[in-house]
Amino acid sequence: MTTKFLLTEDELPSHWYNILADIPEPLGAFLSPRTLEPLTPPDLTPIFPMAIIGQEVSTERWIEIPDRVRDIYKMWRPTPLYRATGLEKALDTPARIFYKYEGTSPAGSHKPNTAVAQAYYNAEEGIKRLTTETGAGQWGSALAFAGGLFGLEVMVYMVKVSYEQKPYRRALMETWGAQVLPSPTDRTEFGRSMLAREPESPGSLGIAISEAVEDAATRDDSHYSLGSVVNHVLLHQTVIGQEAQKQMEMADAYPDVVIGCVGGGSNFAGLAYPFLADRLAGKTNTRFIAAEPAACPTLTRGLYAYDFGDTAGMGPVVPMYTLGHNFIPDSIHAGGLRYHGDAPSLCLLVKSGFIEARAYKQNECFAEAVRFARSEGILPAPEPSHALRAVAQEAAAARESGDSRVILFNLSGHGHFDLGAYDAYFAGKLQDIELPQERLDTALAELPKVPAGAA
Ligand SMILES: *Cc1c(COP(=O)(O)O)cnc(C)c1O
Repeated sequence: MTTKFLLTEDELPSHWYNILADIPEPLGAFLSPRTLEPLTPPDLTPIFPMAIIGQEVSTERWIEIPDRVRDIYKMWRPTPLYRATGLEKALDTPARIFYKYEGTSPAGSHKPNTAVAQAYYNAEEGIKRLTTETGAGQWGSALAFAGGLFGLEVMVYMVKVSYEQKPYRRALMETWGAQVLPSPTDRTEFGRSMLAREPESPGSLGIAISEAVEDAATRDDSHYSLGSVVNHVLLHQTVIGQEAQKQMEMADAYPDVVIGCVGGGSNFAGLAYPFLADRLAGKTNTRFIAAEPAACPTLTRGLYAYDFGDTAGMGPVVPMYTLGHNFIPDSIHAGGLRYHGDAPSLCLLVKSGFIEARAYKQNECFAEAVRFARSEGILPAPEPSHALRAVAQEAAAARESGDSRVILFNLSGHGHFDLGAYDAYFAGKLQDIELPQERLDTALAELPKVPAGAA
């Protein structure tokens, strides 16, 4: 029996799919952080190339992938899709489980799908240096790899707790030629202000974003590059779902449930949006489940409101589910899921009921990651272990109702750099943190006051 579905290089998608063409209600305008008036393209030119700004606001359904980007994608794409027969047996379920595996890229996750595109557009427009932030180090490694291909210098502000937990991710970024600093640093005005307030700050993605944006905005040769959340990143990730559509056809199946983990929403959207297009067109009843950490429960406990994307309040103010831009999540091993907001299109689709969200604690997720490694072989990164927890719930529901629903999930990356976390799990040292409502209330009290009608 075939359990692995492969496409040829010729079947690599020629276009990215833009869900903003099909979304049922319009996304609210993005606002300037200074004026709280709708943002205009000139507000973004200090940090992004024109091509990316165009994609960020585009409502064209299909956007052509440049040949050079497609050629680089071919280093590891199309990625494989598997039928998880071993996991089905381990979960004792009549459900049919499939997964798309993005861990075959050089950086070990889905993130190079957008890093390569962003490095390409910046190089085309004469930029010499990219700045960015990274949590677990996955995004920093992806941009270090992609920037190197185009001769760009890459400066990575790495959340301090991850910098300390993951020395090998840092070494990988340095191997690809990037410079890596633990954030908050004393290199930026914002970093210095955070250190003055809390010298032992573990850092957060919000703080690191602010440092990287400040660095790029204050230098002419530099732009800033983002690994998730914004429209153009989600767009670039849709190669995942388009390939998966063809592969599910090869498997003679169509998903009843599509599942992904959510940090900012890009790997989830990348797999889900091409299938969501079918649902939005009224052709299917597929359900979509976004799995997030209970320690950073943006979609399940956040407020749908306008908020800053970064802690310093320098980036655009966008409508999304948020825990407040000053919320600093506890240190969990799924560092890539510690962000206070989520992609605006994803949030709108959650709010309008097309996507369901669930939150999980880290021990229950690691238990599923271990079950997966033992039944399927591949070692999952801590982030997609949240997707695996949702898969296990759906598999149990299928057993109870005796149906053979088709489950498709995104295995967004491998966990070869996360074995310290597995070690802690086996030693019983992983903490399941209860997040008290007061902490959320405090951070949510500091949302920007957007005047009614401004958006
Ligand atoms: C960064 C990362 C995530 C979370 O980011 P999204 O933008 O939500 O996809 C998930 N999985 C892996 C492997 C990652 O590196």
